[in-house]
Amino acid sequence: MFMIADSHIILFIFILLKHCYTLFEKTMKRRFILIFIIIVYGSTLSAQFIAPAPRIFTRQDSLRGSITRERAWWDLKFYHLDIRVNPADSTIYGSNTVTYKVLKSSDIMQIDLQEPLNIIKAEQNGKSLELKREGNVFRIKMAELQEQGRTYSLKLSYGGKPKISARPPWDGGIIWKKDKNGLSFIASACQGDGASLWWPCKDHMYDEPDSMLISVNVPSNLMDVSNGRLRSIVKQKNKTTTYNWFVSNPINNYGVNINIGDYVHFSEVFKGEKGNLDCDYYVLRDNLEKAREHFKQVPMMLAAFEHWFGPYPFYEDGYKLVEAPYLGMEHQSSITYGNGYANGYLGNDQSGSGWGNKFDFIIIHESGHEWFANSITYEDIADMWVHESFINYSENLYVEYHYGKEAGTEYALGTRRGIRNDRTVTGIYNVNFSGSGDMYPKGGNMLHTLRQIVNDDEKWRSILRGINEEFYHQVVKGSQIEDYLSKELGKDLKPFFDQYLRDVRIPVFEYFVKDGKLTFRWNNCVPGFNMPLKVYISGSEKNLEPVSRFSTIDAGVKNPVIIVDPDYYVGSLNMTGK
Ligand SMILES: [Zn+2]
Repeated sequence: MFMIADSHIILFIFILLKHCYTLFEKTMKRRFILIFIIIVYGSTLSAQFIAPAPRIFTRQDSLRGSITRERAWWDLKFYHLDIRVNPADSTIYGSNTVTYKVLKSSDIMQIDLQEPLNIIKAEQNGKSLELKREGNVFRIKMAELQEQGRTYSLKLSYGGKPKISARPPWDGGIIWKKDKNGLSFIASACQGDGASLWWPCKDHMYDEPDSMLISVNVPSNLMDVSNGRLRSIVKQKNKTTTYNWFVSNPINNYGVNINIGDYVHFSEVFKGEKGNLDCDYYVLRDNLEKAREHFKQVPMMLAAFEHWFGPYPFYEDGYKLVEAPYLGMEHQSSITYGNGYANGYLGNDQSGSGWGNKFDFIIIHESGHEWFANSITYEDIADMWVHESFINYSENLYVEYHYGKEAGTEYALGTRRGIRNDRTVTGIYNVNFSGSGDMYPKGGNMLHTLRQIVNDDEKWRSILRGINEEFYHQVVKGSQIEDYLSKELGKDLKPFFDQYLRDVRIPVFEYFVKDGKLTFRWNNCVPGFNMPLKVYISGSEKNLEPVSRFSTIDAGVKNPVIIVDPDYYVGSLNMTGK
């Protein structure tokens, strides 16, 4: 809507200007006025171009991104996804049996499945149900009364050739590749696009099944690795084998995955805060020796994150690191890995500080998501910062745990080079639209800044662990995390989060010194922005409480040198230009 209105205004102005130009073409003075109008109007247009990227949202976006009436009446309890993956023709055929409890009696259910896949049949208690398709949404007419409080099951048979991912994991879909020995190497990745890219489900993050069984049938020379624990392997007569994986915890849609290849397996036990944690590794046959050496970073990761965030959140399902034919993704209890058995992010240090070369970015970052993404999950992708800001931040906590506080800080400050301030960190709600990529480095630095305000390392760690206790295995709104932090800090952090999550500007500490007095304020900020700030006045530490009006204090020295603590992600300006 916004875009359409805009383009009409632009067209109207253009016609108007063209008309004016023809009318006053011969008059130099008037031509000057016209050029002036074009410059002024042009500058307002360019201002719009740096605003949050507007786009036209469709009815399909709303059906995908909101809790529709056809979703709200039933509560997911259990999925049994039972599929056959056929590398010979790149197809998936099978079924998903959905078990749910009725919250409010209704007769139309929304199930999502994206084109070109198709639901072939929906059945309940042996009765075939009527299906109506609207794009990626199926409306299923229930044949029997859905009684409030009762639990029902529904079997959805489906299949076809699912979308192929062109650029995994950023572009969702199935990846069909071959390993060096010519054997199939297949995986799924679907964050953002949604799990309904490859299986029929309630494709909204607000509702998760309490547990899930994933049965994947593959040619017998291959193996499937999915989430949770391997319950059984069943050899079929047609030279195929079915792998049954059981997840005993709630799992989000995009966390569910298949990985099919010529895998070999090794394992170890990590002695963690909740006892013995089974760590299982699945890698391509040729990479076994490399993996045995390189995956020594897993216990290092677990030790660091249990220290900062509390116990690994899925002891019952174990931890797995699974080689995949793409960079990697935080699939729950089945982290996928494709970073080439080298440190850094595809060999590069994201921070430029040198510390990013001390660890494998994918092992650390994607595994960190077990805490923020898999245990604590956003309800709406507009709040994706809950996953990515905390996990960008966790990279520096990992560095700090193993190499010291100064190293962690250097890493955090180094990642600022990736901040663009192009659009807001928060996306748009109810239409499945995420915010700026700044949710990673800017979000991480927002949390690093918050730590300075707390100014007590043990308290900060207890807050991070507290979030993981309070929201353990829950789907949350970003505002719940904001409110929790406000409560723990005993300070209304709304202006702070408005600034860093919902505004693109960096707050600027403006100051000047005159006659031994320091005058300062916050500028370039949201109304009410009042973040405390640590500065050094000729080397001595001073905590200030700037607001948007000027305050003046005695600097204590005649010609003080003012340095803002670089741990705060802010700008600073000496108003006298010195
Ligand atoms: Zn991430």
